[in-house]
Amino acid sequence: MVFREADLLGHGNPGYHITHYDLALAWRPSTGRLTATARLVVTAVDALSTVVLDLGGLTVSKVLVGGQPARWTHRGGKLRIRVGRTLAAESAIEVEVRYAGRPVPVRTRHWGEVGWDELTDGVIVASQPVGAPSWFPCDDAVGEKATYRIAVSVPDGYTVLANGSRAGKARSGRETTWTFDEPAPMSAYLATVQIGQYADVALAPGQHAAVTRSKLRAFRHDFARQPQMMSLFVELFGPYPFESYGVVVTEDELEVPVEAQGISIFGANHVDGKRGFERLVAHELAHQWFGNSVGLAAWRDIWLNEGFAAYAEWLWSERSGGPRASALAAEARRRLAGEPQDLVIGDPPAKDMFDDRLYKRGALTLHTVRTAMGDAAFFPMLREWTGTYRHATATTADLQKLAQRHTDTDLAPLFDAWLFAAPLP
Ligand SMILES: [Zn+2]
Repeated sequence: MVFREADLLGHGNPGYHITHYDLALAWRPSTGRLTATARLVVTAVDALSTVVLDLGGLTVSKVLVGGQPARWTHRGGKLRIRVGRTLAAESAIEVEVRYAGRPVPVRTRHWGEVGWDELTDGVIVASQPVGAPSWFPCDDAVGEKATYRIAVSVPDGYTVLANGSRAGKARSGRETTWTFDEPAPMSAYLATVQIGQYADVALAPGQHAAVTRSKLRAFRHDFARQPQMMSLFVELFGPYPFESYGVVVTEDELEVPVEAQGISIFGANHVDGKRGFERLVAHELAHQWFGNSVGLAAWRDIWLNEGFAAYAEWLWSERSGGPRASALAAEARRRLAGEPQDLVIGDPPAKDMFDDRLYKRGALTLHTVRTAMGDAAFFPMLREWTGTYRHATATTADLQKLAQRHTDTDLAPLFDAWLFAAPLP
């Protein structure tokens, strides 16, 4: 195993599970300051006297456990809370943390800055993989999922998007509080808040968008086929796993689009009025099944997220009048053959988690499995995968086992060569 847990900055904490997060936030555009209360439902695994949460550079003012003031320390990105009397195994308690400050993203060695970040006029949260503690106290482990309620108060004129469906919009003075409920379990890195002066666009029932006004026209053209994309993916991958799907287009340019649960975020540079980035629209939508609903138990299996999302680009292409998946696979293989062959995508080093070779080779792996099994077995297998592990987590071994049940062809040599050896098969 070459994936070093140290690269995850020590995020994630043993001894308990969080089943629900209730986050009440107020954000001021003039200062960038966040004032927040987080209420977490914490369930002890074994008897527990201290709850350790991940939280970055924000200032904690008060902590309550079960409604009573608790003792705590906050240093090195860890908020350590004394439970008071020891919490018995499997019992639950509410932990409330009040905090404030101007959030800054988490700096990482390999992935740049992740988490809460200010836009020219608003906020973007893109936490993959370790950015969640930049804005709320959490158990920042990829495999830990919980339900969420997120309420955000902003001055009038700003639109807020967060995970789940909108549960309320209440005006008070010159502020509006936007409340969202996410009843489907979610990893902390997929929790998001998007704030900006956006225009609301309805694309189809259950599909909405918040778009920077300068890109409205181009957006309507570039995303016009997203409803067809949704229908295709439902046909191929099974029911859409969440209540709704939202898209954000920021006024700022972004290096890459990013996925959150039920929401994808694109930069102004990804909307050109020519559908020049339509493959990315497909990629991000596919993450709702692969990565968000079927989540990872560990980051070393990241190819499961990116391989499926990249393969979905090819499936959309062949079903929407573009090149067939086999042609795109052949082209990707030719390109990969010209790249350094030192990456084992089934166990990548942390620095290569988001390497394009992992994406392309992941897609090629799935195309090779499809070719070996035939479409009549491959697509039912995909639907069983998204059904069995819906709102849960899965591993590469789980996929290998499931795929093998759908064919008499021995898939072990194929998976070994594509996932666990560096040279291109
Ligand atoms: Zn992706």
